[in-house]
Amino acid sequence: MQQWDVIVIGAGAAGLFCAIEAAKRGRKTLVLDNGKRIGRKILMSGGGRCNFTNIYASPANYLSQNPHFCKSALSRYTQWDFIALVQQYGIAYHEKTLGQLFCDDSAKDIVDMLQQECDKAGVSIALQQDIQNVSFADGVYTVTTPQLSRSCQSLVVACGGLSLPNLGATAYGFQLAEQFGLNVLPVRAALVPLTWQPADKAVFEEISGVSLPVTAQANDVVFPEDMLFTHRGLSGPAILQISSYWQPGDELIINLAPQQDLNAFLLEQQQKHPEQELKTILSRLLPKRLVEKLLELNLFQNQPIKALQGKAIQRLADSLTHYVFKPNGTEGYRTAEVTLGGVDTNELSSKTMEAKKQPGLYFIGEVVDVTGWLGGYNFQWAWASGWVAGQYC
Ligand SMILES: Cc1cc2nc3c(=O)[nH]c(=O)nc-3n(C[C@H](O)[C@H](O)[C@H](O)COP(=O)(O)OP(=O)(O)OC[C@H]3O[C@@H](n4cnc5c(N)ncnc54)[C@H](O)[C@@H]3O)c2cc1C
Repeated sequence: MQQWDVIVIGAGAAGLFCAIEAAKRGRKTLVLDNGKRIGRKILMSGGGRCNFTNIYASPANYLSQNPHFCKSALSRYTQWDFIALVQQYGIAYHEKTLGQLFCDDSAKDIVDMLQQECDKAGVSIALQQDIQNVSFADGVYTVTTPQLSRSCQSLVVACGGLSLPNLGATAYGFQLAEQFGLNVLPVRAALVPLTWQPADKAVFEEISGVSLPVTAQANDVVFPEDMLFTHRGLSGPAILQISSYWQPGDELIINLAPQQDLNAFLLEQQQKHPEQELKTILSRLLPKRLVEKLLELNLFQNQPIKALQGKAIQRLADSLTHYVFKPNGTEGYRTAEVTLGGVDTNELSSKTMEAKKQPGLYFIGEVVDVTGWLGGYNFQWAWASGWVAGQYC
């Protein structure tokens, strides 16, 4: 039987970061992963450039049944700590938008950095490990694979969520939590495109590829970003963000022209160009293909703007700023960036990430019920929760 101080299950962002910290403390640390290489999600994240953190990251950017849980870890290992590490390795990066930091070259820079940190600290990594069983007796965990059994004092579960099953995602982290009697909250796909109802698909799939700045609102939460029409439904950052707050059956309220006071704009156009047709005027604000589609849907009649009398301008402005879609569902884990829900934070210490009723068992990263917005927040949670667990495991 191989003996370790710490075994970490999952060589993703959280698992590697925890292992590095544990090994720096002199703990004999092993990371097990079912894949052929470490950091597979990091490699494909941010379109291959890894949006590794966000300069504005704060607890307000996270969803969790207990919104206070993430505060401790996020304040003890901050975005500035991770940025300092990236700078120490000379990795070139830039802010793309809204505080989102991306590598200039490749996400591989981040994985190489983690590998070097593992090597420096003396972390062992075993890949293509198919874990068959985990047991606990007399204060010791035993992790069994077809090849061998290994024992450890601290077991860290960093198996991630369910998104991208073809990249090795499994429900094993949730199963382990349940095996040890910990509550697991219902999970669902998040940061995910939303799909059309059949009737909307027939109408809108023709304009797939059209993108525009909007605000997307569901359940009193609003995100101002771009929205993209696709063959299957709606996507783009505004939709991915709001998908985390959208529940099946909810309506989505879209402001198609959020960048100005639409009523004032239309009144001004009416004064300046009374003879101009609405299609021409609206095409100054919205993509032409969308305007044609809205005309086809009878959202407006293509008449000179002077014909809009009384409250007609306000009604048109309202219909464009409160356009309602009722999505059918989401594209699911196949394309989702993250999994909402997971190991109930009430079961864990926010200071150490250790299970309150199971000494030596830790849960970190996406497997925990803490889910960030789009924009580098999820990696920041992985680094921060991994770092704090690494100080204690
Ligand atoms: C396409 C895509 C792009 C993304 N882009 C970004 C981005 O740019 N910025 C951002 O902040 N977030 C991004 N995310 C989210 C981010 O990747 C995750 O939140 C983050 O990777 C979670 O880290 P983790 O270590 O908890 O889990 P993971 O990175 O998922 O790592 C878990 C590891 O555990 C392994 N594993 C699972 N089950 C087992 C098992 N039974 N036995 C052994 N090993 C197992 C997996 O193979 C994996 O290597 C993206 C996600 C996706 C899918």
